[in-house]
Amino acid sequence: MTPSRRALLTGAGASLIAAPLAAQDRNALPLALNGAWRQGGYALGRTTPRALIFVDGEALTTASAAGLFVIGFDRDAASSVQIEARADDRSARRTLDIAPYAFPSTSVNGLPPSTVEPSDPALLARIQREIALKTEGFASRIDADDFKSGFIWPLESYRVSSAWGAQRILNGTPARPHYGIDLAAPQGSVIRAPADGRIAFVRPNMHFEGGLTLIDHGQGLITCYLHQSRLDVEQGQRVRRGDPLGRVGMTGRATGPHLCWRMKWRDRNLDPSLMVGAFAPQTLA
Ligand SMILES: [Zn+2]
Repeated sequence: MTPSRRALLTGAGASLIAAPLAAQDRNALPLALNGAWRQGGYALGRTTPRALIFVDGEALTTASAAGLFVIGFDRDAASSVQIEARADDRSARRTLDIAPYAFPSTSVNGLPPSTVEPSDPALLARIQREIALKTEGFASRIDADDFKSGFIWPLESYRVSSAWGAQRILNGTPARPHYGIDLAAPQGSVIRAPADGRIAFVRPNMHFEGGLTLIDHGQGLITCYLHQSRLDVEQGQRVRRGDPLGRVGMTGRATGPHLCWRMKWRDRNLDPSLMVGAFAPQTLA
């Protein structure tokens, strides 16, 4: 080794590790990410087909046959998240900064007490049964990437009557944050699938949700449609973007006709409106 080369290697600076970096590059997987990197948002990724995806060091999902995957950031997401794709002995890692969001606080009054603080044993038993049913629906995991071409709004016209993530004060008592975006629309307005998917759950007359439908879009991404007055799909049915799902109503815990639209990635709640118009990375460049 020449003296000048040795001087470089023992001095300070990032250029020193040129050789190890080059070796690492040969083993690096391609990884492209886009999305809404904020609390309640998500990343859409493309990497090697079937790569294992780690989030903050935990293996959470496997990329689709086309190499696509979703990562959701919930309402209380930390300020950064590390995403890593691994396949064979190759890997790629990115750290994303997650922007905080100041969620509003809203009061809803005049709700029937039984929907806010149920105490009747028969009602509590019914709620438990419905939770078990919903849990089965949310456990749906189709091997698909039906989110890849983006989402449309599920209603042609609407007014946002309650924002996603709002801290709710129900009849004067602080409750869980609102994990939906409420879209007020006339009773009977047609609700359309915002993206392709498979119906994972459909049931009328849920105590809280009323007429409820869940769509599995693949990669652990599930959207929910609450308070429907009519349900027009069946469990297991494939839907395409734009297909009618049902009609706007005010069944369950609702004070007026609206669609409460929700989105989950695995056990995390996301703001579905942030997904409207987004596309998964089309290339790995
Ligand atoms: Zn809602």
